[in-house]
Order: sequence, then C-alpha cells, then structure tokens
Amino acid sequence: MVNIASDMEKAASMIAKARKIVVFTGAGISTESGIPDFRSPGGIWTRFDPEDFTIDRFMSSAETRRKVWRMDKEFSLTGAKPNKAHYAIVELEKMDKLIAVITQNIDNLHQEAGNSGDIVIELHGNMREVVCTSCGARFEKKEIEKRIEAGDIDPHCKVCGGILKPDVVFFGEPLPAQALYLARKRAEECDLFIVVGSSLVIYPAAEIPFYAKQSGAGLIIINMTETAQDEYADAVVRGRAGEILPEVIDLAKRKTDSGPSPHD
Ligand code: NAD
Repeated sequence: MVNIASDMEKAASMIAKARKIVVFTGAGISTESGIPDFRSPGGIWTRFDPEDFTIDRFMSSAETRRKVWRMDKEFSLTGAKPNKAHYAIVELEKMDKLIAVITQNIDNLHQEAGNSGDIVIELHGNMREVVCTSCGARFEKKEIEKRIEAGDIDPHCKVCGGILKPDVVFFGEPLPAQALYLARKRAEECDLFIVVGSSLVIYPAAEIPFYAKQSGAGLIIINMTETAQDEYADAVVRGRAGEILPEVIDLAKRKTDSGPSPHD
C-alpha cells in the first residue's frame, strides 16, 4: 500500500543513511523537460511505430530509416534542458553518496545537469552521436543532420559506405556489454538503489534493481504510476520526479545535518 507522506519520510531517511547510492532512471525523469515517454498518453509510441525501431526493419528499409531520422530530428528539436529531478541527482553526487547513475535514457540530460560523465552509465546509448553499422565509425550528430537537411535523406558512412544509425540501442539489438556489466556491478556494490521515472518493463535493463536487492541494498521507487517492481521496494513514492526528488533529498540533507532521529 503506497503512502506518499510516510514513504517520503522513509525514502529521505534511507538516503540520509546511505553511503553508496545508485540512481536508475527512465524516460519519466525527462518528461518534465518536454521529452515524452514511451507509454504515457502523448508518448512517442502513440505517434511513431515501435516496429520502425527494430534493427531488422531499420537495416532492410530505406523508408524506415527516413522515418527514424525524422523522429530523431523531432527529438533534437525539443531543445530539452535538464529539470529539477536531474539537478537533484547532481546534489547526491555533491553529497559524495552517488556511485552511479544508470540510465535508459538517450537524451544526455544527466551529463548536461552536471553529473560527471564517468559515473553515468548509458544502457541504451545516446542521441548525440551517429554510428556506422558496418565499420563502427562514429560521427557527430550535427554533421549528419546537416547532410540530411541538404537532401541526403538516407545517409551512408563516408568511410565505408555502410548504413548510418543513431547511436542508440534498437529493439532486437544487444545492450552495450560494458555498460551492462558496469551497471550490474554498481548495483551489487550499492547500499541504496533509487529508481526514478521507469515503468521497469523493458528487459534486461529492468533486471538491474534485482541485483541491488539481492545484494542487500534498499530500494526506493519514485514514479508517477505503478511499476512492475513496486512490491519489492522499501519505499514507493508516486508523483512527479521534478517535485518529489528535490523534496526528498532536501529532507535527507536535513536529517543528515541533525543526526539520526529516534524514528530512523
Ligand atoms: P516508460 O515510458 O516505459 O516509463 C516511464 C515511466 O515514467 C512511466 O511509468 C510513467 O508513469 C513515469 N513518468 C512519466 N512522467 C513522470 C514524471 N514526471 N515523474 C515521474 N514519473 C514519470 O520508460 P522507460 O521505463 O524508460 O522505458 C524504457 C525506454 O524508453 C528506454 O528504452 C528508453 O531508451 C526509452 N526512452 C527514452 C527517452 C529519453 O531519453 N528521454 C524518451 C522516451 C523513451
């Protein structure tokens, strides 16, 4: 049973006590920055066909690639900036408690908010770059955008002629092995794992909280709606991440400053 007020208190106490925190984020942390998530009304999949984001379809159809580049442009044009939830996570790093931010997002907003690049683990890639599916050459997104705007609607690699693709993980592609390894490792090392804005239904990303739980870490879930793992969490806070996260972290700071209360 979710009780926002008492779970806020509980979450704050857990953060105050924790020494090694991992934050795990999904599309929900960026909706307040103006980037729609997958599953909420108005989300990306209500306007684009998920089938176009399967690697097989992308590789075999020029028409699909054209649609993907269009969607990619729409994503860039949002001009999204980090919101209060991203900045609250930077506070955790400043408090010297954060060992990793594991994100399913591809929007680069944790780094833009100020989290150090070496603690951000991107499970699904990043929209900043473009990669050649044949030779692996990488290109700045801006360079490819310019080519598309100039009429090259299905851009190919200037090194080997291979098909270019945004450097994000498509359905049917494996997750980057190093990122997945590191994410599992950090989950096992942490004493507190905080999920923010994820429905926890996309695997293998959604199995990472279990690594933390199995190693004895506490689990906090902050999400607008129910998630697939609420029943395993020690505290569940429902609501907007940009409102809840700064408040919980503020509360945690006050608890840290004033020492443990008899209720902690
Ligand atoms: P999801 O769409 O499955 O779930 C997002 C969750 O966030 C939902 O349960 C929703 O209720 C919740 N939510 C929405 N707004 C919120 C808010 N303001 N505060 C708190 N919670 C909020 O997203 P997911 O679990 O990340 O699914 C995974 C896929 O989405 C990933 O593969 C990711 O790459 C992709 N994705 C990323 C972006 C991005 O980079 N910003 C955007 C869309 C999709």
